[in-house]
Amino acid sequence: MSSFAEEANSAVPTLPGSHSGIPPFLLDKAQRAKEGIFDGRTKPQNERQRLPVVPQGIERDDFVKALGELGEQLGAEHVEVNDKPLRDGWYMEHPNTHDMMTILDEEEFVASAIVYPGSTEEVQQVVNWANKHRIPVFPISMGRNLGYGGAAPRVRGSVTVDLGRRMNKILDINAEDYTCLVEPGVTFYALYEALKERGLDEHMWIDTPDIGGGSVIGNTVDRGVGYTPYGDHWACHSGLEVVLPTGELIRTGMGALPGNNTWQTFPYGFGPYSDGIFSQSNFGIVIKMGMTLMPNPGGHESFMYTFPNEEDLAPLMEIIRPLRISNILENAAQVRHVTQHIAVRGLPRSTFYSGPGPVPASTIHAAAAQTPVGDHTWAYYGMAYGPPHIRSHKLTLIDSEFKRIPGAKRIDPSTLPADEYFWSRDRIARGVPDIHELRWVNWASNGAHIAFSPVSPIRGRDASKLFALGRRLHDRYGLDFFPAFIVGLREMHLIVEIVFDRADPERKAAALSCLRDLVEEAAREGYGEYRTHLVLMDQVAGTYAWNDGALMKFNQRLKDALDPNGILAPGRCGIWPKRYRGRGWEMTRESEGRSEGNGVDPA
Ligand code: ADP
Repeated sequence: MSSFAEEANSAVPTLPGSHSGIPPFLLDKAQRAKEGIFDGRTKPQNERQRLPVVPQGIERDDFVKALGELGEQLGAEHVEVNDKPLRDGWYMEHPNTHDMMTILDEEEFVASAIVYPGSTEEVQQVVNWANKHRIPVFPISMGRNLGYGGAAPRVRGSVTVDLGRRMNKILDINAEDYTCLVEPGVTFYALYEALKERGLDEHMWIDTPDIGGGSVIGNTVDRGVGYTPYGDHWACHSGLEVVLPTGELIRTGMGALPGNNTWQTFPYGFGPYSDGIFSQSNFGIVIKMGMTLMPNPGGHESFMYTFPNEEDLAPLMEIIRPLRISNILENAAQVRHVTQHIAVRGLPRSTFYSGPGPVPASTIHAAAAQTPVGDHTWAYYGMAYGPPHIRSHKLTLIDSEFKRIPGAKRIDPSTLPADEYFWSRDRIARGVPDIHELRWVNWASNGAHIAFSPVSPIRGRDASKLFALGRRLHDRYGLDFFPAFIVGLREMHLIVEIVFDRADPERKAAALSCLRDLVEEAAREGYGEYRTHLVLMDQVAGTYAWNDGALMKFNQRLKDALDPNGILAPGRCGIWPKRYRGRGWEMTRESEGRSEGNGVDPA
């Protein structure tokens, strides 16, 4: 069997046998998703017999010797050299060797080796080893941060520290305090399954992102979101255990007090709140995290409204803001564009259109008219929580407010078939993880996606401005435009996923140029990204430049103090340690797809 056929035909891993597996109740769906993905795959298999990419600053022989030394400490089977052809896999069987959705040449963001520590002590050993040999290491929990770089390190040839494979225990679930304590390899799927297994899933809910295969820790430290009222994961965590870049071990918050019993219930402890520096940074390796769980509110009801015109966006946002801030709209709801409604049906764009440039609006609307939801331009997905009498008060108010927009339509859920996307939003908003969202990646053959995610106030004029900016730049590069506004509490993230064929260098270049323009033009208007892909980190960090880049100077001071040898995830979120600074490591438009700089300080 060819390696492609092997990949396409392998069984989807399941929980509890595999820590990264799918829950059995989603297996059929996952298998169908996999078939769809492999049907659309034309990218030739990477068959390159490769030497490991050695990171700059160490000779190959020394590097190989150093890996041998680490193998003696962790066990040779827990140190894997990345010298085989790169296999992209798919969401559930994702690689930890590179970015499977790469927008650059796939040899750019690539690891030299992957190591699998099995305990706190072994994580410390890896860090001590990295300091001794000055080898960059890049921690991942699951490595499913797709659209933002996946498992890939920022510095080519870094040693990836895959924490999830051997450190994946749920250390505690506290059904009285509604909290849990997890290791990096615990996915939203696994946490949900554990609640079910203990008969607690009716009692307490998890908060899951659109797809549940990410790590609770990985998603939270990258400040990901979910869709119950607990949506802001970082705001909902309580307590970290962290291995610092110099190998020391700390606990944050109440965890610093020996014998405490409030580590997961009071996030701050005493003194400076240090947790913040461990999110979207490269200041430590998080090996335990406390997370809050939501009590079952005693009932829930999903609702969906559609709005006919593009111009409805601005008045809709004006209606949403007061409702959201006063918690009548209770979850981080989504306002999605009709193009996504079509794409999430899982069919390739070629089903609808094969001409040049973006799929015409008339074609999208004609396709939407054929769906159970019917034609529209914007769709709002939300959920009301609590027993019926509490829900009905909120739902009545929402209905009268939303219907102030001419042509607004409440979709009756009982008219929607079981596989309609609405039901996936319904599950997620009540803490049941899903895999449905994967479908829109099939829009392009060898579908990959990368996000532009600016933050703005919940205001009509901002939404319109960002929408117009996105549309104009997508048109410039001939790309389909998939905007969704995710409404937080007092702000919203616009999430624009550019879907591209990762086997087509010309489309990749167009997507990247479009993103660079988006970031630049949005910043000029005062909008910054809440999170970004490895390739854009330097550019995005550069937009947070107030007072002559004072914040980055502060981050660099912290970095140099905490990580004097610059071994931990150099360059992540644009934070370069002293050893790399001033040597051209930043990626900008001018670096033309090259991720490496000119050496590191040998001192
Ligand atoms: P997920 O699979 O949950 O989407 P990843 O494991 O890909 O998340 O992690 C997302 C990003 O967050 C990684 O690229 C990494 O830089 C950072 N990260 C993940 N886990 C840790 C951790 N335990 N400690 C420090 N940083 C982490």
